[in-house]
Amino acid sequence: KYRSYPYEHMLKIREQNIAPSLRMYYKKPLLLHQGHMQWLFDYEGRRYLDLFAGIVTVSVGHCHPKVTMAAQKQLACLWHTTNIYMHPSIHEYAEKLTSFLPDPLKVVYLTNSGSEANDLAMFMARLYTRNFDIICFRGAYHGGSPYALGLTSIGSYKHGVANGIGCSTTMLPDVFRGPWGGSNCRDSPVQTVRRCSCSEEYLGAVGICSDYCLGCVCHANEQYIEQFKDTLNTSVPKTIAGFIAEPIQGVNGAVQYPKGFLKEAYQLVRERGGVCISDEVQTGFGRTGSHFWGFQTHDVVPDIITLAKGIGNGFPMAAVVTTKEIANSLAQNLHFNTFGGNPLACVVGSAVLDAIEEDNLQKNSKDVGTYMLLELAKLRDKFEIVGDVRGKGLMIGIEMVTDKDSRHPLPSEEINQIWEDCKDMGVLIGRGGLYNQTLRVKPPMCITKKDVDFAVEVIHTALEKHMGKAAAN
Ligand code: PMP
Repeated sequence: KYRSYPYEHMLKIREQNIAPSLRMYYKKPLLLHQGHMQWLFDYEGRRYLDLFAGIVTVSVGHCHPKVTMAAQKQLACLWHTTNIYMHPSIHEYAEKLTSFLPDPLKVVYLTNSGSEANDLAMFMARLYTRNFDIICFRGAYHGGSPYALGLTSIGSYKHGVANGIGCSTTMLPDVFRGPWGGSNCRDSPVQTVRRCSCSEEYLGAVGICSDYCLGCVCHANEQYIEQFKDTLNTSVPKTIAGFIAEPIQGVNGAVQYPKGFLKEAYQLVRERGGVCISDEVQTGFGRTGSHFWGFQTHDVVPDIITLAKGIGNGFPMAAVVTTKEIANSLAQNLHFNTFGGNPLACVVGSAVLDAIEEDNLQKNSKDVGTYMLLELAKLRDKFEIVGDVRGKGLMIGIEMVTDKDSRHPLPSEEINQIWEDCKDMGVLIGRGGLYNQTLRVKPPMCITKKDVDFAVEVIHTALEKHMGKAAAN
């Protein structure tokens, strides 16, 4: 079918007819043909282990048979109703999805993308509280639509037009790169894996377990909470509409906050009349392993959550889930979404939830993710340029530095080579961080320990090659 589309011809079409703001990965972009579970295949038949899952989107596996079958069956029956008529699929899905959520998060709005979900969450927060201001973290990505772009705080996604009126950023409690807990807390620099007092294993370079109990004594959490209070006192009025955060910051390179931070921040926000929004676009659906939702790892219950990416295993769908009370604030007038909740999306969403349960994928995320974190921590201990290995379950960041002392980000050209070499050896890894300095590992949750052994071996080989080259220079 695609015989008239040689590689060079496609590059030309890209240059002439496809949005130039889309940047492709790799010097020679991959031309993909097929996907199966954790594997991708290109047109030359080369197989790649997909450690980035189409930016954390393929949750249960590429073309997972159960999800594919559900979509195929529905496709032949009915695609679209615009929700002006009834169809069982949306009812089944809303019931199933909310069965995974604690009270009072029981009312579902279906949308088509994460940006749209965050737009709606922001809209609801404002309508419900009758306040306007929303706080978000620096370094966050919450969407690219003009409304959600106000919550996105990464310079490279910003354009010089008005956006984010009423959105204030606050300091990211990043204990590796931030002013507290990282290079500024040298009292307990832990460079090997050991046990934390909470019985978890230390993984981060500064003595942090995967739950981010800080092993250092610089009271980083208190310092970051002071900064949060500072934002509340200086950047917003006395009452606010809300606060949005991911449980682990995704695009910025799997940044984890000190344990207890979100709980305290939620309390401060609620004292100001605001609602708390958890963006679960990357952290939801069992990815963190220990819990089904990222917010549960912080022992909080948000007022609104937003879901996308993994919710549909790659099918374009997204959702907002909130309380009946907040939902009622939007019911004073009509709110309409043509494609949201279409039968095709709903059966896909249901099949994804079934697959997560039937394939035991949350447990797999925990077991295989923790195994991978520990294996990668060995690379951090061996190589000077691996500054930090962190994360939870299958949401992992490997932060690359020039050296462990200075923690300067490793220059892009150097990381690029390591990353390209990994691809050439058959492993696809994501990138992230303000300086593009972090390798992001967020594979389909069906990945196995054997795949991890292969991936770690490949990364090890790429790092050794880099160190050899650096020594030769
Ligand atoms: N929130 C988070 C945490 C995301 O990572 C993204 C996408 N990278 C979005 C929202 C926006 O989702 P979408 O691209 O589907 O609009």
